[in-house]
Amino acid sequence: MGLFPEWTWILGFAIGAAIGSFLNVVIYRMPLGMSLNEPKNSFCPNCKHQLGIPDLIPLLSWLGLGGKCRHCRVAVPSRYFFVELITGSLWGAIWFQQLGLANEPIKAVTYMIGAAILVAAIFIDLRWYIIPDQLNAWLFVVGVTANLVQIGMGWPGGWVWGMPASIAGALLGWGILWGITLMGRLLFGKDAMGHGDIKLARGMGALLFPLGAGIAFALAIVLGAVIGSLQVFLRKSPKHAESEEPELEDETPYEPESIASIFKCGIGYLLLFDIIGLFFPKFYKSWFGEDPFAAEDADDGWEPSFSTIPFGPYLAAGALAVMLAELTLKGWVKNYIDWVFGS
Ligand SMILES: [Zn+2]
Repeated sequence: MGLFPEWTWILGFAIGAAIGSFLNVVIYRMPLGMSLNEPKNSFCPNCKHQLGIPDLIPLLSWLGLGGKCRHCRVAVPSRYFFVELITGSLWGAIWFQQLGLANEPIKAVTYMIGAAILVAAIFIDLRWYIIPDQLNAWLFVVGVTANLVQIGMGWPGGWVWGMPASIAGALLGWGILWGITLMGRLLFGKDAMGHGDIKLARGMGALLFPLGAGIAFALAIVLGAVIGSLQVFLRKSPKHAESEEPELEDETPYEPESIASIFKCGIGYLLLFDIIGLFFPKFYKSWFGEDPFAAEDADDGWEPSFSTIPFGPYLAAGALAVMLAELTLKGWVKNYIDWVFGS
């Protein structure tokens, strides 16, 4: 029996859509180094008008106003609508499964918060090719905290199973992604992964445990291979190649990250220095060599190289798939293992 009647998923959807509205603020402000609560009221980036209630009803405002600012009529990107729709749908689905069909309140809350963090990470990574440290820190902290709460509520397996599984998952995620980064550099002399992806995988492991995280990584690789090759293929379109823009000659030549730096950063992520460093920015800067809250430059015009594919969105999508279809996916893995070993 579920904790709540099944139909209450609609509440999950509504709350999720409202959370999506907040995520739109996060997605806009966090990469620019802006505070999330100052200015308190949202504003139109074009006419700077403060937004009121009629502008801020999740989903309905954007639809009702035809996707335009109520004051200056400039187009509001459809991203605002889709972030609310996606977050609402994820929350509705998690609510339905964990609270409507099952009685798993801790898992429900953990997955809903995790899903919100992942949605923000996807949209920021697609635009800026970074995942803010705060988001990766939250993902890890939420995963570990869920187990602490279970222990606090007297679940006997908490110390024996929950917490060790969470830490093992984080180690697995860190190890795989950092390993790929190191091997890509050693074997091919290339930066194979963004560091944000290493930290994202660490948080995914803490939240989904080793098996769930492993499935998420596998899905990410499949998804990345399919969509990535499509993207590279489409970018090769003749129209693009005949573009009259001259090639930039003064670009600094490609210089991959030093191996020493890969080791130093990797150890830092293993020891959670990037999370601790959010409270001690000087320490962060001394270890990682950059300011943790530095704003991305909106006009730096940096574009990924021809074949660069941001992997973060695929990782995050894989994690979302595991949250939504955990039992099915784990059943597939079990069937496959049974089949391989012929039992
Ligand atoms: Zn406006």
